[in-house]
Amino acid sequence: MAAIDATHDPALTSWVASANRDGGDFPVQNLPFAAFRRAGSREAFRGGVAIGDEILDLGALAATGLFAGTAGAALTAAGEPTLNALMGAGPEASAALRTALSQALRTGAAHAARLRALLVPQSAAEYRLAAQVGDYTDFYASIHHATAVGRLFRPDNPLLPNYKWVPIAYHGRASSLRVSGYDFIRPRGQLLPAGATVPQLAATRRLDYELEVGIFIGRGNALGASVPLAEAESHVFGLCLLNDWSARDLQSWEYQPLGPFLAKNFATSVSPWVVTLAALAPFRSAWTRPAGEPPPLAYLDGAAQRAAGAFDIELEVSLETARMRAAGLAPQRLSHANFRDSWWTVAQMVTHHTVNGCNLEPGDLLGSGTQSGPDPGQAGSLLELSAGGKRPIALADGEQRTFLEDGDRVTLRAWCERQGFRRIGFGEVTGTVLPGA
Ligand code: CA
Repeated sequence: MAAIDATHDPALTSWVASANRDGGDFPVQNLPFAAFRRAGSREAFRGGVAIGDEILDLGALAATGLFAGTAGAALTAAGEPTLNALMGAGPEASAALRTALSQALRTGAAHAARLRALLVPQSAAEYRLAAQVGDYTDFYASIHHATAVGRLFRPDNPLLPNYKWVPIAYHGRASSLRVSGYDFIRPRGQLLPAGATVPQLAATRRLDYELEVGIFIGRGNALGASVPLAEAESHVFGLCLLNDWSARDLQSWEYQPLGPFLAKNFATSVSPWVVTLAALAPFRSAWTRPAGEPPPLAYLDGAAQRAAGAFDIELEVSLETARMRAAGLAPQRLSHANFRDSWWTVAQMVTHHTVNGCNLEPGDLLGSGTQSGPDPGQAGSLLELSAGGKRPIALADGEQRTFLEDGDRVTLRAWCERQGFRRIGFGEVTGTVLPGA
């Protein structure tokens, strides 16, 4: 587990003035990574690190030769078009790079004038996925979501008996992962209208989002070699935001017995910025089970896990309808949750995924599953907020929603705040629904 060190010192400031603004996502204590280039250009994508409103171009920084040793080797990897090599180099490499970047970007740094020429404004950048994702697995780690959704699909049997024991997941589709800003056409598929006995092919009428944390795998494990819980986090590069768009009418018709298929694989949106586990070190929480609940099997349990296995990350969903946009109204917050309420932790998901010897590769992506909190207002999907479409949500401009309408834009945000530390954020992931055929 990454330790708190000098890079987290709340007194640190940056020579990039926008990084010192209160409430910003990207102070010098954060230093998340993305793959970017200048918007509309034909430049090669390369790694960048966020600092205030700017991106420090790591491809250009690598060419200066300013960083040596482990940090220099990690910087060379970070200058590539995707971050797979940096992720695969492991936490020692990314920690060395983080320390060197912290020293280079803080107030009074030796080469500030030279580095200033390597900044690109975030407003002038475009992104791709941080990694070439070979495999994508989506978990179901929030018991509050699993119970609420189970109640809608199976009122008399909401939580299946395996839930409290197995970190449930399905293998998703990597080809339809998209970086934030992807606008997609309302998908169609088979659905069974209420009262009908024969399904029809139609555009989904129950389009939804899912508020999730994405987990980018760092160092891989060999096929056949499982990752013990105590080592699980050394195989994780960092966390991001993930919106697992879902077509609920397709889902309810197709999901038994093999789970989600076309209800999920038409688009999954991912935030460009990946916050490293090192940056999250000050925001760890104890992982507990409520009294009376069974402890997990031994391979998913441990002292370090119980002491600080969870992450205290605030999560938020907001909606901007086409009408709000036309009227110049601000997006409306629909709900918020916290990742520390997850039934399963990042480490438990990684360990369970590999317990049978399944190999994870650098840049693989795991989704946490919809993160819903214990209160109904903390639900991470419209399915829950609208009680399966039965209870419309009133919006401030007089509109209402059960599921997403054409033109709706959904934005997820996340941040960490703790007394004695600088707030850090994840940026956002956004996407807009376009009319279907
Ligand atoms: Ca999901």
